[in-house]
This record gives sequence, structure tokens and C-alpha cells, in this order.
Amino acid sequence: MSSNDTQGGAIRRIVIVGGGTAGWMTAAPLAQRLARHPTQPCEITLVESPEIGTIGVGEATLPTIRFYNNALGLDGADFVAKTQASFKLGIEFKDWGHLGNRFFHQFGDFGPPLAGISAHHHWLRLGQAFDQMPEIEHWSLASVMASQNKFLPPSEDTPGLTDAYSYGFHFDASLYAAYLRDYAVARGAQRVEGMIVEVEQHPETGFVTAVKLRDGRRIEGDLFVDCSGFRGLLIEGALQAGYEDWSDYLPCNSALAVPCASVQKLTPYTRSTAQEAGWTWRIPLQHRTGNGYVYSNNFTSDEQARRVLLDAIDGAALDEPRQIRFVTGRRRKSWIKNVVAIGLSAGFVEPLESTSINLIETAVGKLVELFPDRDCSPALADEFNRIMGIRYESVRDFIILHYKLTKRDDSAFWRHCANLAIPDSLRHQIELFRETGRVAILDRAGFAEPSFVAMMMGLGVTPKRYDPLADRVDMRVVHGHFAQLRDMIAQTTARMPDHGAYVAGQATRA
Ligand code: FAD
Repeated sequence: MSSNDTQGGAIRRIVIVGGGTAGWMTAAPLAQRLARHPTQPCEITLVESPEIGTIGVGEATLPTIRFYNNALGLDGADFVAKTQASFKLGIEFKDWGHLGNRFFHQFGDFGPPLAGISAHHHWLRLGQAFDQMPEIEHWSLASVMASQNKFLPPSEDTPGLTDAYSYGFHFDASLYAAYLRDYAVARGAQRVEGMIVEVEQHPETGFVTAVKLRDGRRIEGDLFVDCSGFRGLLIEGALQAGYEDWSDYLPCNSALAVPCASVQKLTPYTRSTAQEAGWTWRIPLQHRTGNGYVYSNNFTSDEQARRVLLDAIDGAALDEPRQIRFVTGRRRKSWIKNVVAIGLSAGFVEPLESTSINLIETAVGKLVELFPDRDCSPALADEFNRIMGIRYESVRDFIILHYKLTKRDDSAFWRHCANLAIPDSLRHQIELFRETGRVAILDRAGFAEPSFVAMMMGLGVTPKRYDPLADRVDMRVVHGHFAQLRDMIAQTTARMPDHGAYVAGQATRA
């Protein structure tokens, strides 16, 4: 039996529909691996329509973006300079638990485990012993760095601390897409400008065979990646995947976005402030600050939302606020036949924890891992859909947690949130933590234990109990452990430069 009898024939032409963040994040690694492959080169064509444009937001990321950038071999300093990036140690949440409440969701832990037990169980024990809960943020290196506006990557001057904190980036989304476009084109990807007006499918198999442009051009392919944004031109338009609507869990359906001049020091964190009908974001970049208001238009008017946003920004607005409507949820399937949807075409959960670009990274990584032959085995699609389903649902649950645990009741929006239905998976997570201080990790690739601890404690959930095994550790050892951690954090942050100065140094190095 020849290998051709068992294999379905190699993919020779990939068409990526859309040139937003998702399109170019897909094109770059595919071009890197396949476009100039010595024995099986693959034509990679990306079609984008400047007339339609991109969504133009999406500027805060998770630490995993570094793995993505590293896999492409991008130079860190060059990337920071070209995308006007700043570093991100986590998110400062204001007015979320209640008006006046503030806490930090950091990238990193709260110090190493002691006797194999996570640090937060030991503070819960200390809290019960002394009838006062220690401020958890003081035990997170990333939170202390953020509060002092300090930054240095873990590897350079922090030996032994590589696991203690992590970081992502804030960047200008359009500059990042342009950066990846140059990368992909330099490695053989072709960029086509034009408006797709028709999608052709094989009459028997239903496979997409070509996209037709308004000017009559026709682009054929073996595999199509739908990065067309909310419209889902192929996955919904041609293949009718269907959409799972999660608006009953997450009521926001609108956003306004506006950049403003930078006036403060360059902060190494995103800020999220709860407002009367949603929340505003503040994302510091080198050349400007990105701002937006995510809200529900069932609880406020667009005009009132505009006022709230313009009141919240700390520099002069550089543009008129731009309106975006969305339906929270995901496609029932994001891989069907020879079409794989990546980015907004696959689904959307509001950017409260900057998860969309992370979901793009996952989808692109899985597409490479499960790369098909021309016959696109349905088993590969099933596996892709299974994994992406878990990822989207775990993001959804983590975001619902923010709304569900708040005690705010000062507007109709927040009273509505208090009564939101929640998925059983999230109910289990909250109950487990409230009763025992334990965290259920339902998605190993998703948020880890310190994230749940930071959010639940920040929003005011203090567990009734802690791990009983913590009681077997001598209290003097516990005190010593935390004293050592406090000293290490103080010494480490004292040696670190100001975040703005560090960024300026990177930009000059590039
Ligand atoms: P788009 O940017 O919409 O790109 C679609 C592309 O398809 C465009 O190039 C368009 O021209 C092309 N296209 C569409 N139709 C056609 C056609 N007929 N012919 C030819 N071309 C076509 N994510 C984060 O990780 N962090 C954040 O902080 C964050 N903030 C966000 C804030 C808001 C308010 C919103 C709505 C989203 C946010 N996101 C964030 C999500 C993030 O913006 C997206 O995941 C990301 O930009 C990817 O978008 P996309 O490429 O899928 O779609």
C-alpha cells in the first residue's frame, strides 16, 4: 500500500480570510513552517479588505503571547519598539467587589508553597489565628512591582524567581498586525487586498473550494482559515456552524473605545474599573493610552456610556469614541470540513481578562498540531472543536465569576448581575473555594490557582476553612516563610528600574 492510499494528499494552498490580529497571527507561523518548505511548499494567501477594516481593539495580552512571539523568533526589543508596547504584570480591579474596592490580579503566585501546601492556606491559617486576614497582595512579587511601577523580566536580574512572576504585553493592535504581516510576507505569504463577495463550495462534499472577490478574482484553496471577524464569512455564512449565545450569563453587548494622550507614568498593568452598567479599561502604551467601556445597552444609553468613558480617561481624547456591538458566545463548531475559524469568527467573550488573543494563540497552535491532509479528517475537526470548546467555556466561567461575586447593588445592571444564572461548573468552583479554600482547575491550559485565589479573595470571598494539613506545619516555620518572602520581595523590587525607564531602554536597544 502506498502512502497515498492512507494519506489524503498534502495541503498545497491555504487561504486565510481576514487580516486582523487573528489573520496575521495565523499567517505568520504557517508561513514560517510551510511557505518555503524544501519538499512540500504550501501557498499561503491572506485576503483582507481595507474597506471593511479590522476591529481595531485588542491591546492587552496574557504571558502566553511571549511563547507565541518566541516561537516565531521575534526579537523582544524590536517587538517592543515596533508595536509601542509596554509590559503587563496583571490587572488592577477598581470598584469591582464594592464601590471603593481595589485589588490586583497578578501574573504569578503568592510565594512558593510551604510543606507542599499553597501559600494562601497558610495565610488563611494566620488570618484565623490572629483574627485578621493578611493583605494577600503584599505576598505577590508582581503586585508589589506593579504598585511601585517597577519592571524587569524575571530572567535578567532575578535569579531563582523565574516562577514567582510573569508578564505579558500591552501593544498597539494595528502595529502588531502590521509587524506580523511583514514577518509573514518576508517568509513567502501573499497578501491580497479585496472584498470577498462569494464563497464557492463543492456541490457534493460541501468543502469550500474558492473565494471570489468583487473585482472578479478567484482564489482557490485546499484549507481555509476564517479570520473574518464577527461576521464569520465562511464558518457561518457558508457552513452555518450556528452560534451558542451566552448573553444570559454575560449581559454586556456593547463597547466604546477611544485612545487618549498619555499623561501618567507608564504603568505596568491594565486597569479595569467597574461602572454603572459594565466596566472601563485603561491600557497604557508608549505613544498613547487605550481606553474603552464595555457595557450593556439594556441598562444604559450609548450617549450616557460615552459620557462615562470620556469622564474616566486621564488624558485628552485623541479621537471620537468608536462603537462596537457584540453577542457573547461561540460558534457551535469552529472547524467544519476544510474551514477553521480563528479569532472573533470563532467566538467572543468580553476582554475583562484579555483572553481573546490567548484563544487565537491556542487555536493557531492546535491547527498546527492537528494539521490535516486535503481530505480534512472529521476526527481532527472533532478534536480541535473539543479542545476549543473547553477553552472558551473556561474563559466564560472565569469572567462570569467577576460579575457573580460582586456585592455591588447600586444600579439596575449590578442588581441584574447578582441574580445571574451561572453554569454548574462555576457554581462548583465557587462553593469549593468558599467552603475549603481549594481551587478546582477544570481547564489545565486556563487560569491557574493563584488567579482564582486573587479574584475570589479580591471580590470578598474568604474561605471558611483552609487545608487541614497546614496545621501540621510549625507556626514559627510559617512566620519565617513569610518573613523571608517579604524580605525577598523588598530586596528584589528595590533593585528594579522604573517601568517607563525599562521600556525606553528596550526601545533604544532595538
Ligand atoms: P477583525 O479585526 O475584525 O478582522 C477581520 C478581518 O476580516 C479584517 O481584515 C477584514 O477586512 C476582513 N474581512 C471581513 N470580511 C471580509 C470580506 N468580505 N472580504 C475581505 N476581507 C474581509 N482581545 C485581547 O486579547 N485583549 C484585549 O484587550 C481585547 N480587547 C477588546 C476590546 C473589545 C471592545 C473587543 C470587541 C475585542 C477585544 N479583544 C481583545 C478581542 C480582539 O480585538 C480580537 O480577538 C482580535 O482583534 C482579533 O480580531 P479578528 O482578527 O478576529 O477580527
